[in-house]
Amino acid sequence: MKSKAPTPAAVAAFKAQVTQWAKRIRVRPRQLRLQPMRRKWASCSTRGTVSFSTEVLAQPAAFREYVIVHELLHLKVPNHGKLFKTLLRAYIPNYETIQPRATK
Ligand SMILES: [Zn+2]
Repeated sequence: MKSKAPTPAAVAAFKAQVTQWAKRIRVRPRQLRLQPMRRKWASCSTRGTVSFSTEVLAQPAAFREYVIVHELLHLKVPNHGKLFKTLLRAYIPNYETIQPRATK
């Protein structure tokens, strides 16, 4: 995977979007990171640090939003069980159909 570093404006817009969703979901990430990640779109630590891959910024808006909501929900529900899916569906009803754009 090869990608250009995101512009400061894109990073700021992304972080603002994460902050908005955190408010809506009512979670408080302790730290928000944006960094190159090889195999994942995002991760979240038990200490409340949420990290997103810079690749997410090059993805379509729907997928970007899905990744944000998915990861923030892990601050409430640490697994992918029934509760997690119910909450995810409440925020993004069509989440099962959202796919990332293939990257080279
Ligand atoms: Zn997950």
